[in-house]
Amino acid sequence: MTMGEFYSASDTQEACTLLSRYREKASVLAGGTDLMVAVNQRRMPLETVVFIGRTGLGYIECEQDALRIGATTTHTEIARSPIVREKAPLLAEAVRSIGSPAIRNMGTIGGNVANASPGADGSVSLLALGARVKLASVSGERIVDLDSFFVDIGKTRLEPDELLTEVIVPVRGEATRWTWHKLGQRKASVCAVISLAMALELEGGTCRRVRIALGTVAPTPFLARKAGERLEGKALNPALIEEAARAASEALPERDGLRASAWYRRRICEVLIRRFLAGLAE
Ligand SMILES: Cc1cc2nc3c(=O)[nH]c(=O)nc-3n(C[C@H](O)[C@H](O)[C@H](O)COP(=O)(O)OP(=O)(O)OC[C@H]3O[C@@H](n4cnc5c(N)ncnc54)[C@H](O)[C@@H]3O)c2cc1C
Repeated sequence: MTMGEFYSASDTQEACTLLSRYREKASVLAGGTDLMVAVNQRRMPLETVVFIGRTGLGYIECEQDALRIGATTTHTEIARSPIVREKAPLLAEAVRSIGSPAIRNMGTIGGNVANASPGADGSVSLLALGARVKLASVSGERIVDLDSFFVDIGKTRLEPDELLTEVIVPVRGEATRWTWHKLGQRKASVCAVISLAMALELEGGTCRRVRIALGTVAPTPFLARKAGERLEGKALNPALIEEAARAASEALPERDGLRASAWYRRRICEVLIRRFLAGLAE
């Protein structure tokens, strides 16, 4: 591996200044668990590295209606955080299923999202939670819904001079019900064959704020928006559960993957959603 220059930014501003100077030639380095694999496999040249591990972006803050998680917060920190476990247990559970302890100790939530893998566990759970990301550059900050952040495999709306600085997770009410299911070819240190993250609120038996996100079924983490809408404002019953589960599976793109066919993923998607909703109905 050959590398040009290595910078360890001391704060966000310095990191953004370096990104605006080097743009496409710069690679942001957080935990390195995705980046270094790509470099070692020669999928990515490494010209100028901007390390962001010392920029002060490792934090979890709770406001009235949202959790603010700094980009370099590791999966271990999130999974162990009492505040995340209380306010966004779906996220805590999802990042707990990432890789192995060593990967979770190094890998960051910002890296998970910015890397834009269709099966990234953090991204899929954040999509179900309706999260947003804060992007910073020398010209200022902007906030983007995760719904529109992912463009394609490995591609996002991040500009070359932008740094993802924070993930903003809406805090849901006590009526929230959620599920996280990651199906892999073995139980530990595994990439998902398919993953399902689902969150909804049950108020007096009626479904509200339903979001169904799936991993590894499309080129980006996938939001089954129409299937969620079928449940909105309605009480769960067997016919409705069937309708929603089928709508989600039919919405999945016809995309055979390395680890499973589109047909298999559709069947599994349907079964997982049906099981979760039937459990709630009981
Ligand atoms: C053995 C192994 C197992 C794994 N298992 C899983 C798994 O089960 N589930 C899963 O979801 N992932 C898994 N991963 C992938 C990886 O660990 C995660 O995606 C991790 O969260 C990446 O974070 P990082 O800090 O290491 O990112 P890095 O590798 O440092 O960066 C990843 C990419 O994002 C960019 N980037 C990083 N931070 C920012 C930022 N703040 N702003 C802008 N761009 C940024 C980098 O330039 C790079 O392109 C695994 C990886 C390995 C090696």
